[in-house]
Amino acid sequence: MSREIKKIVYCPAGHSSNDFIYSDARNFIFFESCLLCTKEHFIQEFKTWSSGNANIDKNIQESQTSHINYKLQWIPYDNFQNIKYIADGGRGSVHSAELKNGIKWRWNFIKQDWENHFISSEFALKEIKDSRYDLAEFLKMIKTVNNYEYIVNYYGISKNPSTQNFIFVVKLFNDDLHKFLTKIFWDLGWETKIDILITISEGLEILHAKNLVHYNLHSGNILNLTTPGRGTDIYLDLCTLENDLVLNINNKNDKIFGLIPYIPPEVLRGNEFTRKGDIYSFGGIMYEIVTAQRPFADQAHDTCLMIDICNGVRPKVPDFMLSWIPEWYLDLMYRCWNDDPSERPTAIELTDLFCDTLDAFGGNIADNFTRQLKIADENQKNTSKSQKQELFELFSHSSKIHPQSCYIGRCIRTLHGLHYLLEEIKSGKSSDPNLLLKFNESSVNTHNIDEETKIKSKQKNDIL
Ligand SMILES: [Zn+2]
Repeated sequence: MSREIKKIVYCPAGHSSNDFIYSDARNFIFFESCLLCTKEHFIQEFKTWSSGNANIDKNIQESQTSHINYKLQWIPYDNFQNIKYIADGGRGSVHSAELKNGIKWRWNFIKQDWENHFISSEFALKEIKDSRYDLAEFLKMIKTVNNYEYIVNYYGISKNPSTQNFIFVVKLFNDDLHKFLTKIFWDLGWETKIDILITISEGLEILHAKNLVHYNLHSGNILNLTTPGRGTDIYLDLCTLENDLVLNINNKNDKIFGLIPYIPPEVLRGNEFTRKGDIYSFGGIMYEIVTAQRPFADQAHDTCLMIDICNGVRPKVPDFMLSWIPEWYLDLMYRCWNDDPSERPTAIELTDLFCDTLDAFGGNIADNFTRQLKIADENQKNTSKSQKQELFELFSHSSKIHPQSCYIGRCIRTLHGLHYLLEEIKSGKSSDPNLLLKFNESSVNTHNIDEETKIKSKQKNDIL
């Protein structure tokens, strides 16, 4: 048998296609560009820019020298044009903007200049106003998962010259999962529902395989590119870091950042947020996929709800929707919500189960799972007008959403943190007359939330 011998090519700088660019990847010379030249030019330019933070610079530089395609870049603020406000989030604000000059993609050895990509393309700018946020740590995580499907791509970092806040430059999406579901829910069949869940569980699988935990999974962090009715194109956004959890001397967390309905009971009690915690949050997504409602939307998100969740209370599926949902699906959702983290499935188990179900559904295999899905689809189609009217009312957020619910990420005192504060009050150690108010921080925050913020929280989710 003859084996085709690959011709070795050289660039004008003398690099060969046989050279290694990394220990496990060979150089590639094509269309007037060479990966080694590109890498060398990124390195030459290290001294021409700085974010002003050595750790951030180090992470950007490492991504430029350690990955072929997904290089983070320092993007000067004057590269943005047509900047438009989108929304405020838990840690900052989000704008959209066009990249006037795009971003550096590869070095052209004939033109002796950069070839830029994404010229005049629109991106999302996430400006981080919370100074506690360790951006360098976050970049370290982004570097390890930036090249994966199902996870939102980060392209670079910039700085707002007027506020001095750092900005992440991220792919711009049309919708988050919550908005997507409210638009498409009537026409959403089980094939698409399962397809969406596979994408999310695969995103989690990637994180968990790298020993990362999402910590803040909810429908506002699942972003969508397609318009309703055209299939799914779903991505998992990353936004929370391990260091959001404040470990005290007893190895318990006093505070946690997130949305109460998606935070697992063990974390509300003050224990560690593990991969199994993400699975609990995934249960909330499963609920929303079948009801188009976010969990506990009709309740105040306060300390009472935290105690209820720790006592086993879970969101209820409206009775008239039950015939649209296969029994195995409800069982799986409640397994994700199990109080005992070890009883919850893993991301791999979820992906495998959903993939097998989708295969059987597409292949018309008449097993019990598929049969239940087909019956559920039929029941949804045959739902009477009056029932649909009931559902419509459920969708009309103004009447059903509790005014003290909150779907913007915020700092929440865990039950352990509350206990500690109560002890301080009891022992008279605290001289702060407002401590009693702070005691119930999670509800006080919501009670005090101004009208404008309340409206925004209904219109958008936790983007940051
Ligand atoms: Zn070269």
